[in-house]
Amino acid sequence: MDKKPFATLEQAKKIAESFPTPFYLYDEKGIRDNAECVKRAFSWNKGFREYFAVKATPNPYLINILKEYDCGVDCSSLTELMMAKALGYTGDHIMFSSNDTPPEEFSYCNDLGGIINLDDFTHIACLEKTLGYIPETISCRFNPGGLFRISNDIMDNPGDSKYGMTRDQLFEAFRILKGKGAKRFGIHAFLASNTVTDEYYPMLAEILFQLAVDLEKETGADICFINLSGGVGIPYRPDQTPNNIFAIGEGVRQAYEKILGPAGMDDVAIYTEMGRYMMGPYGALVTTAIHEKHIYKEYIGVDACAVNLMRPAMYGAYHHITVLGKEDAPCDHCYDVTGSLCENNDKFAIDRMLPEIAIGDILFIHDTGAHGYSMGYNYNGKLRSAEILLKTDGSFQLIRRAETPKDYYATFDFSGIMDPVL
Ligand SMILES: *Cc1c(COP(=O)(O)O)cnc(C)c1O
Repeated sequence: MDKKPFATLEQAKKIAESFPTPFYLYDEKGIRDNAECVKRAFSWNKGFREYFAVKATPNPYLINILKEYDCGVDCSSLTELMMAKALGYTGDHIMFSSNDTPPEEFSYCNDLGGIINLDDFTHIACLEKTLGYIPETISCRFNPGGLFRISNDIMDNPGDSKYGMTRDQLFEAFRILKGKGAKRFGIHAFLASNTVTDEYYPMLAEILFQLAVDLEKETGADICFINLSGGVGIPYRPDQTPNNIFAIGEGVRQAYEKILGPAGMDDVAIYTEMGRYMMGPYGALVTTAIHEKHIYKEYIGVDACAVNLMRPAMYGAYHHITVLGKEDAPCDHCYDVTGSLCENNDKFAIDRMLPEIAIGDILFIHDTGAHGYSMGYNYNGKLRSAEILLKTDGSFQLIRRAETPKDYYATFDFSGIMDPVL
């Protein structure tokens, strides 16, 4: 499939007049249309809710858009919970799916009335000690171990992942939690990441639905929701077939009818915690070519670097690149597209066929709307970029300013050491 940028060269240039590159650009229309589809795809389930995984794109302006579609928030830390609070989320619109959780964060979530999703068996005692009691609504995270396969393909390796409880621990946890006053139970599992197949959620659903039936039967716990978590992927490469959220929703529905229906559990709510699928395709890193270099390979140096987008350096992740204004030019030049970090893995693309790039060309790095800006860091003293929303009416809005050197130095107390830098 041809990957088309959601902004034109003219729009990028216009924005760059006010906010120089590099910047993150988000597509309001894309975010809205997709959120609407997700809602419709699961509308067969009365209690359905998507809890947007805040860690993917922790920008309050973007989360506020999803709020209009009744999305909740899935938080992983104190500051994410604070953002949820500031945006007016309370009660069962907050899911706290953390791990290795600092006890005071359990307290903070509980004060907001959020749902605590326990990653580990030992967290039951920690939670009780911290709060003085066990909340009436509680969720537990499951890890089946082993390899997770779809057909013959190994999708991921839960047995090697740090998350969740074993099956035996989960049953024991439900008995203990029930004994301590929990009344409404949920289960959660995240077994594979960035799955570009419509089969992942339905397969995960079968596993969790059967588990829920067994848990209710053996422990008497009332299971009110089943959380399929994240992991629904996006086609980063142009040759990948995008997921069809309606086929996914229908697959989950069939598993529901097959397993939960006959067990008399047809009031169970389905929850999701998608991050990548909700935002990934609707964000781009926009950057300008500032240097070319001809040594053993051909290099294009851009004004963004891995601190703005870590995925290629960290995972060797592919991100498609469009040279704006050259959408129809032949891709007959082979480049490494690099940033300026003193790290040789600071490359947005390696041996990539692209149109001939001139200094000053603007590059649109696709599918960076999730796990992009949010994974940023400050190595080499580099500063985080601005985030800008391209609105449905074609206008644009700054939704986070770029960092300045003052932000970088803000955590030092210079007194007695040296002259203040700023
Ligand atoms: C990261 C994460 C998500 C979101 O994952 P995506 O791959 O972005 O959909 C959801 N739930 C939990 C617990 C996570 O850690």
